Amino acid sequence: MIRPVRPLGHPWGAFRGMKINQFEPFAANCYFVRKLTAMHGKWLTLGFIFLLWIGNNQQLDAQGGPLTPVPARKAPGTEDSLFIRRLADEILVNGRAYSNLRILTKTVGARLSGSAGYYKAEAWGQQCLQDAGADKVWLQDCLVPHWVRGGKDTASWSGPAGSGTLDILALGNSIGTGAKGLEAPVILIHSFDELEQRKDEVKGKIVFYNYPFNAKFVEPFRSYGDAVRYRVFGASKAAKYGALAVLVRSMSESVDNNPHTGALRYDDSLPKIPASAVGLQDADKLAAALNGSGGGSVKVYVRTMAKMLSDTTAQNVIGELKGSEFPDEYITVGGHLDSWDPAEGAQDDGAGCVHAIEVLRALKATGYKPRHTIRVVLFANEENGGRGGERYADAAKERNEKHLFALESDAGGFTPRGFSLSLSEDKLTLIRSWLPLLQPYGVYAFNKGGGGADVTPIGQQLGVTVGELMPDGQRYFDYHHSRGDVLENVNKRELEMGALNMAALVYLVDKYGLDGGGR
Ligand SMILES: [Zn+2]
Repeated sequence: MIRPVRPLGHPWGAFRGMKINQFEPFAANCYFVRKLTAMHGKWLTLGFIFLLWIGNNQQLDAQGGPLTPVPARKAPGTEDSLFIRRLADEILVNGRAYSNLRILTKTVGARLSGSAGYYKAEAWGQQCLQDAGADKVWLQDCLVPHWVRGGKDTASWSGPAGSGTLDILALGNSIGTGAKGLEAPVILIHSFDELEQRKDEVKGKIVFYNYPFNAKFVEPFRSYGDAVRYRVFGASKAAKYGALAVLVRSMSESVDNNPHTGALRYDDSLPKIPASAVGLQDADKLAAALNGSGGGSVKVYVRTMAKMLSDTTAQNVIGELKGSEFPDEYITVGGHLDSWDPAEGAQDDGAGCVHAIEVLRALKATGYKPRHTIRVVLFANEENGGRGGERYADAAKERNEKHLFALESDAGGFTPRGFSLSLSEDKLTLIRSWLPLLQPYGVYAFNKGGGGADVTPIGQQLGVTVGELMPDGQRYFDYHHSRGDVLENVNKRELEMGALNMAALVYLVDKYGLDGGGR
């Protein structure tokens, strides 16, 4: 008798690996095969057996049987798709994301670290988390920088081609010019390379960095990542060569003239000089005047009153749903509570805060009992220091907490497209098997990448997988850090779609883990 290659499971498994010239001796010893052969001939019988073998293998594979090794983790299925549908219904029908955002933007408004608005926002966050059904809500102290704008920023230009005002906003963390303001000739610089080449012309002037978003990049976050170095490092680089102040083309591709502020970082070894962002229409106007003047004869007057005060204490606002199986293991979901001062911080990052709160609310409202503890964190001070995210990571490390996953929403409340996750391609392949569950709600990609700025420290310090919601980015920089970041520029349905996809992902991670081990 032919010895079956793998005598496992169903007897038809015995045919695996058998060659055609091995069939006859096997058939001679098998009553059933002899009968079949007598009735239908050798080839028909072989065909019949082959079909049964295929069916058997498929069945074993689907059951995680022995022929093909499969990971131990349970596979998402119908039960999950039904539960995600319930989460979706809860968020789309009874959702609180938009009404919570309305209160945050219209009754709290701007909330930069150290401002009265920030502390009002902390109270708002605590209330929302309690109303959402958190088992526990608390505050985590954190030392934050306290920068103030100090008044209205103004600027004007004059030169051979004419004169006019410039719509500007001092950059966050910048020093001001003082009440008298500052007037100096302007030098137009298109890149740091050009600054190096023309460093001898910079002394005593205002450097105007006019580096636009690269329109060839399809993804605006890529354009922002490319251009933002002029806002962050431009002041100190120009100060190195004796510049008196800098103007920076706003980080945007909008068609309006709103200036977009945002943080700069001074090099402490160099003099600190005032820095402001210019609206795009005025940036184009100023560049045209400079190009037409032959250089050197255009002057700008700028007056800003900004200053950095001493550090002060603020709080991360945290709410939890206690885990039923692993209460000491955490899944974090968050956004940042602080926002820039020109507007209401609706897209950046009120949307992320209400997304995170809505995840907890919807899980609770549907009666879901999380296996791990789900923590919502409204982080302090993302915009001009990142101290809230660092504090949360330090505290988790001190307490030796086990964290499974930290997800942030800090790219706006637009229609969700995907998630970026700090996972290897191998692990992402596993997670991508969840996509059919999210595709009905618009998410079609899990990309290799990172998380938002506030979850990055916990990712780095504890090796936690971090992730970020990726909404459609085309309109984000129309509003980001500008007076356009108001509730009216947030769409209720788009906001809710973000929350429901985050809730679905948190549910799947809670149930199946991220490494295929179910934990
Ligand atoms: Zn943000």
